[in-house]
Amino acid sequence: MKPPCSDTTCRLKCIEKVSHDQRFQSFEKFWNIGDLDLQRAYIHSCMTDITPRYKYTNAEQPRKPNKAFHFIVNEKLTRICKTFFMRTLDISDRFIRTVKNNRDAHSFTKPDGRGKHNHHKDIALKLVEDIKNHINWIPRMEAHYVRSDSSRE
Ligand SMILES: [Zn+2]
Repeated sequence: MKPPCSDTTCRLKCIEKVSHDQRFQSFEKFWNIGDLDLQRAYIHSCMTDITPRYKYTNAEQPRKPNKAFHFIVNEKLTRICKTFFMRTLDISDRFIRTVKNNRDAHSFTKPDGRGKHNHHKDIALKLVEDIKNHINWIPRMEAHYVRSDSSRE
């Protein structure tokens, strides 16, 4: 685990919201997953879109929304900065970019082809359940950029 963000420059004051122990729990939980697809799904579940203040309606391509990062602290969804998020989990910007660019969360649920025995599968199922619970904490919104008859959230 890396040191947290700076308490003097961070606007979100992450250090005041998440204790060292809570950081370490998140770190341990993430690395105990031991499965790249589930780790990506977990990271995906920690990110939400930030709607830009101004919309550039004449742009050829809609601006990609920025991401907000969250941990669940004392059963509450807690927003933290990207630096704090990356340093707590000890992951790279590249890891986040990979997850971000792969917008369709379903692509993370495909088997990755590596051999898995049953014990591993049981743990994986338990983690999927955890991740689903985590996702359900995030406020739901109708999806942007899809047809109006879609029920995607
Ligand atoms: Zn911060």
